[in-house]
Amino acid sequence: MTVTPLKYIKGVGEKRAQLLNKLGIFSLDDLVHYFPRSYLDFSNLTEIKDFIPEEVCCFKATVGYTPVKNEIRRGLTIYKTLLIDGEYSVNLNIFNSAYAAEGLVEGEEYLFYGKITLNRGSFEITNPIIENPDAVKAMQPIYPLTAGLSNKIISKIIDNALGIYINDSMSDVIPDELRRKYSLCHESFALKSIHSPASPHDLEIARKRFIFEELLTLQTGMKILKRRNRGYTSFTFDKDCSEDFISTLPFTLTNAQKNAIADCIKDTKKNTPMNRLVQGDVGSGKTVVAAAVIYNAAKNGIQSAFMAPTDILARQHFSTLTKLFESTDITVDLLTGSLTAKKKKEIKEKLKNGETKVIVGTHALISDDVDFDKLGLVITDEQHRFGVRQRGLLNGKGINPHTLVMSATPIPRTISLIIYGDLDLTVIDELPKGRQKISTYAVDTSYRERIYAFIKKHLERNLRAYIVCPLVEENDGELTAAKQYAQKLTEKNFHNYSVGLLHGKMKPKEKEKVMADFASGKIQLLVSTTVIEVGVDVPESVIMVIENAERFGLSQLHQLRGRVGRGSEKSYCILISDNQGENAKARFEIMCRTCDGFKIADKDLELRGPGDFFGSRQSGIPKLKIADLTENMDIVHESKQASEEILRKDPMLKLEENRRLKVAIKNLFSNEKGSTLN
Ligand code: ADP
Ligand code: MG
Repeated sequence: MTVTPLKYIKGVGEKRAQLLNKLGIFSLDDLVHYFPRSYLDFSNLTEIKDFIPEEVCCFKATVGYTPVKNEIRRGLTIYKTLLIDGEYSVNLNIFNSAYAAEGLVEGEEYLFYGKITLNRGSFEITNPIIENPDAVKAMQPIYPLTAGLSNKIISKIIDNALGIYINDSMSDVIPDELRRKYSLCHESFALKSIHSPASPHDLEIARKRFIFEELLTLQTGMKILKRRNRGYTSFTFDKDCSEDFISTLPFTLTNAQKNAIADCIKDTKKNTPMNRLVQGDVGSGKTVVAAAVIYNAAKNGIQSAFMAPTDILARQHFSTLTKLFESTDITVDLLTGSLTAKKKKEIKEKLKNGETKVIVGTHALISDDVDFDKLGLVITDEQHRFGVRQRGLLNGKGINPHTLVMSATPIPRTISLIIYGDLDLTVIDELPKGRQKISTYAVDTSYRERIYAFIKKHLERNLRAYIVCPLVEENDGELTAAKQYAQKLTEKNFHNYSVGLLHGKMKPKEKEKVMADFASGKIQLLVSTTVIEVGVDVPESVIMVIENAERFGLSQLHQLRGRVGRGSEKSYCILISDNQGENAKARFEIMCRTCDGFKIADKDLELRGPGDFFGSRQSGIPKLKIADLTENMDIVHESKQASEEILRKDPMLKLEENRRLKVAIKNLFSNEKGSTLN
């Protein structure tokens, strides 16, 4: 499609073209896709007798007499008249607008749109929108504006643009066959109806179509971007030894865990690489699933790499795997940035010559000087912490290795569907037997002493507790800083118990020591910053207290809470905050109500708004104009299906029927446009 410059559209000169540019409009195509932000509904009139004070409504009435002008003081003029409909009437006030007031002709009928108020027992309307009933659209579009361009002008320009853009022979962005299958209206109807709908119903139909179109464009584009030749892998796992491993476990796997392992084993038997996402809420037991697959790889003589986002987590996985493989002949090595240079060198050597079969590590695994002998399995934990690029880098260390990514679903389902749309999905939707719901309470700081007593009662029973604070050192009186707090508790409230401190500024070795002491029970109460947010697993910890809880996002609170309730003991999460803000309260309320990570992630998106998710360059999702990923889940699904159908039939989008979709994808993903359309 050729790009028609703006200045050829009637009503647009050099100057207006510049103003339109400010709104992100550069072409005819942009102009017709510049959607109203709302509508004035003139299709639904209210009679004066049905008025409800303080409500916005639209009504038809006759001007009782020529508006009377009254200059209250310099610069403040008021025009008054009466609007009549049969036996009812409303007082009309117009401030400072001679143009609007003097245009009203006595005895003529007009449409009025505005808020009705009650003044000394009479209905009143002030500075309403006034329209001529013969000339008005049923629903008048209201566009986002910029100084120098009024709504009337933009409406007019867009009307002219639609006249050029829409023609009988125009093909549709959505191929006809799919349009019929998913009951979507034609583009020309949608364009007309989104700009000036004949009724709310027509608007609904048009919106649905554009949301579908946008999500279809987005998902098809994402698929093409990510499409890679999956190729073949030389690492087919001939033997399935997972049962040998499972029989050594101290617990019975949940069915969901068994299914997840079975899915992976099936994938790795094929000669195309596994590409799977295992999603399971915090505490669902993902690590052991990874262990089973790693075990199987090792038994098939293949190297595995297991990457975690933090040092603490890498060390924890290292010790978990070491313990899980204790009774087998498999050894595990660790590579993180915090090892000594000598140790690193030694490990890298062993990786290169193939002596090390299983390596656990942090980002250190993807540095340039790390080479593998036969890397055939790559696992990344808490996937959301890594960018797509980092995942790719580790894969690049092997030749088409099998990949498994594990995530505790902090990303709402709609978004993960789009970002990870190229991965096969397994969901672990079951917690290990005997887990109890974590009771969650939101309290203010006056409860602190009571909470301390509650913690002590549990420490007496050889259980453990966390207190999480937002900061390391006190620099703001209001916030509870971890360091000072730990000191205070050690000296005062908990002097008969052992209190530990953990924060991100400590050396990795120190952190490791603290975590080990907490795991063994040498430390009973751990005061920490959010370094323990992800993945840390100590089954005996049963109380999670979060200070200044208003400082944390919903998903983060859920992750923190996930540090308790990991054994069979009853666990508690206590959110302490004196903050009464609406948003904070909404977060606490949802935390107290549910422990379901999926629900929390969706709610988080709703509260924070999608901006946060799209803002991150990492996600690679372009800005959307009309679709809302918090609300349009059904359409996400349908359009995903449609996008698969299209690519199956026409992988390169070469067919005529997909020509316009291809252009739409280019437009949506072009950076230049993304940056102008803020
Ligand atoms: P996450 O899914 O949050 O990564 P982990 O893999 O850390 O969870 O497992 C949480 C805890 O549950 C660990 O202590 C682990 O040993 C334990 N666990 C895992 N699977 C089972 C099971 N089937 N039965 C009992 N405990 C289990
Ligand atoms: Mg984990």
